[in-house]
Amino acid sequence: PVQFTCPYCMNRIVTVTTPVPGVLTWLLCTGIFVAGCFLGCCLVPFCVDSLMDVRHTCPVCRQELFLYKRL
Ligand SMILES: [Zn+2]
Repeated sequence: PVQFTCPYCMNRIVTVTTPVPGVLTWLLCTGIFVAGCFLGCCLVPFCVDSLMDVRHTCPVCRQELFLYKRL
């Protein structure tokens, strides 16, 4: 979370972060799948926050401010 002035409602806010699956998550998922792990292991990247993109949203007006991408 970072402090930020929301461009939509002009409030000084601290962003709310939500992990969302990103390019890196899908690449790892595909990579594990191709490597021959078929029993749900390819879903592991979706459970690891450090592999996810992070969406920052304004807690006041709920607008998406920016998306932090791993790639
Ligand atoms: Zn706002």
